[in-house]
Amino acid sequence: MTEQLGLYVLWAHEKLGLDYESKHIEPYEIYLPSEQSRGDVIGPGVIEDTLDFVKNSVRKLKGVLRDPHDNLAQEQDFIPRPSQAKCSACEFRAVCQHRAVE
Ligand code: SF4
Repeated sequence: MTEQLGLYVLWAHEKLGLDYESKHIEPYEIYLPSEQSRGDVIGPGVIEDTLDFVKNSVRKLKGVLRDPHDNLAQEQDFIPRPSQAKCSACEFRAVCQHRAVE
């Protein structure tokens, strides 16, 4: 199961009160227009793995902040890495000065 689905399960648990241990949540990713899907019942360790993923992500994000206590970042600490492949699919290319595509 992907981290994304694990996060959806945690969201459903927190916001909708669904009990992930009772097998009432069976998450799937469904892609349109192909309708290909992937997902499954929640196996052992999925919730723990998802929480570990979140904790590690938060730790990494705090590690690049100038001031983690105040959640303060500086733009100059993040070097743009434009590439044809990434920029052509990027949501920010219309406003990005570093984009590799027009
Ligand atoms: S358009 Fe800008 S923000 Fe987006 S991937 Fe390219 S360089 Fe990065």
